[in-house]
Amino acid sequence: MDAISLPLLSNQDTVHLALACLKSRERAGVVVDDGSQFHLLHAGDLLAAREACKKFLSEVGGSELVYVVGPADATAHGLDLVRPLLTQAEYQNMFTRIACQFALVGADHDTAMIVTRSEDYERTLRGTGGYECNGMPKHFFPRPRVKAGDPCPLPYCAGVISPAP
Ligand SMILES: [Zn+2]
Repeated sequence: MDAISLPLLSNQDTVHLALACLKSRERAGVVVDDGSQFHLLHAGDLLAAREACKKFLSEVGGSELVYVVGPADATAHGLDLVRPLLTQAEYQNMFTRIACQFALVGADHDTAMIVTRSEDYERTLRGTGGYECNGMPKHFFPRPRVKAGDPCPLPYCAGVISPAP
């Protein structure tokens, strides 16, 4: 379990804005509020959406549902909502009961505080802006996590990874 702040956007916002937020705020994922639920979108899916000329976040596939932690969860599992890292074992226990990899513990108008089930996910989300390979067709990352200079991990692609422009 780990915690990270991510840009918070609405599904009416543009793919272009989301990618700009990832660069300026040094993250590789955004949280999207669709009015009733929160989803996490990875930089790789946003880069692929830009390549496919999709305009709005509502058109981007591949998002993952974010569980919203409420007072009942906090009571049931003994969670610290303000300083989640103080109750890591309790959050880990909650994650064994829910089907999500991410949970929302707080938000303001443009930032969401997320707890992640695995520390590996937290490291992935700290990568800035996303990556692409120079193969044909191009692939976009993270998912899986890559770094600049790696060979493209996808089969039958001889591309090399670099930060996405
Ligand atoms: Zn590739």
